[in-house]
Amino acid sequence: MGFYEMDKNELVSMKKQWDDEYNTFKAKGLKLNMARGKPGPEQLELSMDMMDVLNSKSSLIGVNGDDYRNYGILEGIPEARDMFSKMIGVHDDEILVCGNASLNIMYDVVSTSFLKGVNGSTPWCKLEKVKFLCPVPGYDRHFAICENFGIEMINIPTDENGPDMDMVEKLVSSDDSIKGIWCVPQYSNPTGYIYSDETVKRFAALKPKAEDFRIFWDNAYCIHHLVDSPKLILNLMDECRKAGNEDMVYIFGSTSKVTFPGAGVAALGTSKNNIAFLKKVMGIRTIGYDKINQLRHVRYFGDYQGLLKHMDKHKTILAPKFEAVIDMLEKEIAPLGIGSWTKPQGGYFVSFDSLPGCAKRIVALCKEAGVTLTGAGATYPYGKDPEDKNIRIAPTYPSVEELKMAMEIFCLAVKIASAETVLD
Ligand code: PLP
Repeated sequence: MGFYEMDKNELVSMKKQWDDEYNTFKAKGLKLNMARGKPGPEQLELSMDMMDVLNSKSSLIGVNGDDYRNYGILEGIPEARDMFSKMIGVHDDEILVCGNASLNIMYDVVSTSFLKGVNGSTPWCKLEKVKFLCPVPGYDRHFAICENFGIEMINIPTDENGPDMDMVEKLVSSDDSIKGIWCVPQYSNPTGYIYSDETVKRFAALKPKAEDFRIFWDNAYCIHHLVDSPKLILNLMDECRKAGNEDMVYIFGSTSKVTFPGAGVAALGTSKNNIAFLKKVMGIRTIGYDKINQLRHVRYFGDYQGLLKHMDKHKTILAPKFEAVIDMLEKEIAPLGIGSWTKPQGGYFVSFDSLPGCAKRIVALCKEAGVTLTGAGATYPYGKDPEDKNIRIAPTYPSVEELKMAMEIFCLAVKIASAETVLD
């Protein structure tokens, strides 16, 4: 029976039952974590052979005769530029292959814009106000970069087609203090949404009032599929090229969740103009990134097809974990009508919306019973979810057995928190 069809007495007695079940779990002193989107140990095992690809007998001379043991090649080794340009969808002269994490490149690009401007524009630090559009719910670390630089964030609602493009177009074309927008177009964090073709085309055709406006297209999950025939987003750079707008976009990607987080390879795809500008600043900060790790990755995968094949192994491990989460929500929460959730075809998260005003309480109840979730509010700028209803579930790290138990507790917490609100 749905929550709103129960009379008060029925609900009170159901709540008593849920409280009892919850307390039984609590007494077990469990320690389960569905907080961060980390690959599980068995996923990390998949790439262990990469450690044997290079040894003291390996040639570290590249395709152009360069010795990768030495300084130089700021833009990344050509073998890696070839592979990663295919991954993020740019030409191989529109990519910089950098260090171990894309977040680091994102931070650097924002930081450079503050100190040096964007391709000759006024440095953002000299402006009275800098604003970014933030599709919500979104990725907390994007928001943290904005907070760090004092960038004002504006929430943009999203649905399964991506951000509200009417709002994006209106704001971007009318306010020159809006300098950027964060997008995770293929399997958004946390919703798993895939931007529609129309959304991508509208992004490419934006006419920003600020000449230094940039789309921060974080394609972190572009090859992280959970299904066999995934829907793929349109290529933003191709669309921008058609619209003569290729300077407007920065595309980010990495192998953090392909090989080893923190020891992968990250890349930035952007126009040749932007690359020339960014390289000048980058070349002051470093003489070059870790070419040996770049080579290790390329030799291990062979080519882009090899990289895609490797992702199938991740899919085999991850698909049952997502299934376990969705199944439990369908079984326990759907009949009660006290929440909604996404069913992603890829990426690292399931986004759950509770009844308004319940998310913080659910996360607290889970924590008390030993299940750690991402803090409620984290998916919104400034940690403020206006309706206190969104929770990011990260199913990748725990085993399927642990997930099932964690989700039992999560569902009980949802029921108890919802009952408290309704009975209040
Ligand atoms: N971008 C998104 C959307 C993410 O969800 C994450 C990690 O969760 C990252 C970037 C981090 O990527 P990297 O390890 O390359 O910094």
